[in-house]
Amino acid sequence: MALTQETELATIRMNFDNSYARLPGKFYARVNPTHVEGPQIVKLNTALADFLGMDSAALNSPEGAAIFSGNRVADGSEPLAMAYAGHQFGGFSPRLGDGRANLIGEVVARDGVRYDLHLKGSGPTPFSRNGDGRATLSAVLREYIVSEAMFALGVPTTRALAAVATGEPVVRETLQPGAVLTRVAKSHLRVGSFQYFLAQGDTEAIRTLADYAIARHYPEAVESTKKYRAFLDGVIARQAKLVAQWLMLGFIHGVMNTDNTSISGETIDYGPCAFMEAYDPEKVFSSIDRQGRYAYSNQPHAMHWNLARLAEALLPLLVEEEGSDDAGMASAYAAMEGFGVHFEAARIAGLRQKLGLTMQDKGDTALADDLLKRMAENNADFTLTFRRLCDAAAGTDGDEAVRLLFTEPRSFDAWAVQWRARLAKEPASTDQRAAQMRLANPLFIPRNHLVEAALKAASDRNDLQPFEDLISVLAHPYDEQHGKERYAVPARAEETVTATFCGT
Ligand code: AMP
Ligand code: MG
Repeated sequence: MALTQETELATIRMNFDNSYARLPGKFYARVNPTHVEGPQIVKLNTALADFLGMDSAALNSPEGAAIFSGNRVADGSEPLAMAYAGHQFGGFSPRLGDGRANLIGEVVARDGVRYDLHLKGSGPTPFSRNGDGRATLSAVLREYIVSEAMFALGVPTTRALAAVATGEPVVRETLQPGAVLTRVAKSHLRVGSFQYFLAQGDTEAIRTLADYAIARHYPEAVESTKKYRAFLDGVIARQAKLVAQWLMLGFIHGVMNTDNTSISGETIDYGPCAFMEAYDPEKVFSSIDRQGRYAYSNQPHAMHWNLARLAEALLPLLVEEEGSDDAGMASAYAAMEGFGVHFEAARIAGLRQKLGLTMQDKGDTALADDLLKRMAENNADFTLTFRRLCDAAAGTDGDEAVRLLFTEPRSFDAWAVQWRARLAKEPASTDQRAAQMRLANPLFIPRNHLVEAALKAASDRNDLQPFEDLISVLAHPYDEQHGKERYAVPARAEETVTATFCGT
């Protein structure tokens, strides 16, 4: 018996409440996703669906596939493409916008927070320029794996709710299966959203957008007599902490353009991102980053630069708030000074945790930097060095496993002497310390060769098992997992991934 469309739809309730769609029309283009041939759910994140107050069982169905591919506009959804500009590798584009994505609406989740639902790869929009509006299954699953891994690692990030295969090929260097990712974010406001209106000299729109961002992400700023400065301070503080967290995990974003820098302080837009294996502060993976602009250790500078672009866009409001051009400029500069302060504080706090130091000692930064320098000289795996250090914190029996990661193990020995001298000043028992350290030093990160193998199996052989296995391990990155040891091991020489591609 054929069900009517009404009956089918009745099972799926999303409770949309779309605040962005209530902003003036110049903030977006209303456009529906483009129909795809054969939508099929590749992965539904049921835990996230439940958290968002959705009926995950009902969504795991052809109707769910229709909604998350964009074939069906769910009740209450108001699809649109957001307008934004952006500096891409330093060059300014006044009009980027969602060229292959739709914001389909917002829902308030169990934590009381409002989240965007966004389809990426959902077809052309007025912002597509020459692009096809589509995404490959491989890029979609890559974002799924890495964003969910970041979430499990405790890093603010957008999340992946669903990956749906479109049943249509996408033309890249080769023909590849296409897919749509349903992304969940506290919002999709970017530094580039503000730049879009700065480029048009539209201060009123900047004010509207800032008020919107404050209400949604920085409500405490309203209590300040200088709310736009408080807003700028808030974004700077969150982004400084975020970049410090990236560094603590060896994460390289890869495309830190201003359109990929979120106002909410979440990691957004996982393209050619990667976690490094052997520690190398100059490390770059992205094949399009030829100058190393977004190299591992350049990320704080890149973020500072991006936030200066936000300060620039907010300048008209700061000038008003301060009463003169000079005072407005001074306010922007003072806000930018905060970046270094927040970043350094977050970095050293992160390093102390990684090294098992709960007290503060003047020499801690030098001690940590000395270890990093030795790791770089000895090709030591970033993740495993810190993880094995947790065992070494429990006793010198653990040293051997760390030493083995260094090409010249004596380099570690020399450092370990200083470290133990410093640990002697700490109050915690060795076992407590090791346990604490394991909460800051993951065992499992999305190692590039494992990610590539999972994407290849899915794309080339329609085999999703490696993807499923990988995300299940990465959901508990700080726990030992029996039988999963191979996921913790660095790539063998022949498996090493040296470059990542936007692979859009
Ligand atoms: P991204 O590199 O994903 O941050 O995208 C930068 C800009 O290019 C954004 O405006 C995207 O919407 C746009 N874009 C990326 N890929 C495509 C595509 N396949 N079709 C249309 N626009 C795209
Ligand atoms: Mg982007």
